Amino acid sequence: MEVPLLDLKAQYATIKNDVVKSVTDVLDSQICIGGPKLAELERGVAALSGCGYGVGVSSGTDALLCCLMALGIGAGDEVITTPFTFFATAGSIARTGATPVFVDIDPATYNIDPNQIESRITSRTKAILPVHLYGQMCDMDPIMEIAARHGIFVIEDAAQSISATYKGRSAGSIGTVGCFSFFPSKNLGAAGDGGMIVTNDQALAEKISLFRNHGAKPKYYHKFVGGNFRLDPLQAAILLVKLPNLDAWSAARRRNAAYYNGRLKEAGIETPFVAPECVSVCNQYVVRVDNREELRAKLKVAGIGTEVYYPVPLHLQACFASLGYSRGDLPHAEKAADEVLALPVYPELTPAMLAYVADTLLASVEAGSGKHSADLAGIGR
Ligand SMILES: *Cc1c(COP(=O)(O)O)cnc(C)c1O
Repeated sequence: MEVPLLDLKAQYATIKNDVVKSVTDVLDSQICIGGPKLAELERGVAALSGCGYGVGVSSGTDALLCCLMALGIGAGDEVITTPFTFFATAGSIARTGATPVFVDIDPATYNIDPNQIESRITSRTKAILPVHLYGQMCDMDPIMEIAARHGIFVIEDAAQSISATYKGRSAGSIGTVGCFSFFPSKNLGAAGDGGMIVTNDQALAEKISLFRNHGAKPKYYHKFVGGNFRLDPLQAAILLVKLPNLDAWSAARRRNAAYYNGRLKEAGIETPFVAPECVSVCNQYVVRVDNREELRAKLKVAGIGTEVYYPVPLHLQACFASLGYSRGDLPHAEKAADEVLALPVYPELTPAMLAYVADTLLASVEAGSGKHSADLAGIGR
């Protein structure tokens, strides 16, 4: 049996007619920039996230960059973030001229450890950029307390966690701003690149929408140096069809995760920890194993797709060598990078596919010594 890590065709088949109609509406209108579909999507995603304002942008990366620029962050500033995330998080900070300051993760959730943030704050720190990894939000209360105490911004990287909640509050609605990605592998995926910024601050939303469009208001009068960070109405048209399905798709991901948990936990495989105050949207289902490469190879032979998010923590990336970190500085992130393995968890998986993945993984683990070492079993919560 073939079980890919993600099957976009399976989802498209369920919505194809509506997508074609929505895209055709845009093409027929020839409103190729901005327009009513984009405005409707911005309202829809803002409402879903419990925010007053949404600003569609060209990608999740540009959402981060555009926010950082609009908040005036640049050369000489520092932004505290996690080393265990997709590159765009820290890449965006560096592109403004600011310095990413990496703080280690909580090994149970893989998210930034709030207890280690305050000691890294300096007079140059302008923001904390927590990342809600794999679909689960960070422990936001202590992060917001620290930010308030020091008068700094919080930029939520919610690229993997649209509509996830923490104490009943939605991803993107707690910090100064929240950033989403519509990359096709995210829970709400476009047919290409896209993203959105959400906030409850009206003045900031306006400023961000200026930065999205070269800082111009009115046209050809430039208040700021922004960029072309616009979201295409064609992508908005597709996302609008998908949006009403998002809750059901997230629920299906959680059901799939629950199935794996039931099958794998007893066998001694370390399954994802979801904090009781969080509802995860399970963008990824990630286990920890000792002999990851061997296991990956066996699953591949059996037709099962897996991925490693992420093999190299950002403080050890070549492009950040000048920041002066070395191996051993952020041990929990480094260990996670060596052990994590993402399994297929997309909503359209059938019960037979789920069973096949679990059966194959358990058989492979028993054949090798894939059980996770006892030293980690008691870590964290
Ligand atoms: C996907 C992702 C991004 C970047 O989004 P793009 O739309 O691919 O530019 C940023 N941060 C995280 C955590 C992501 O997963």
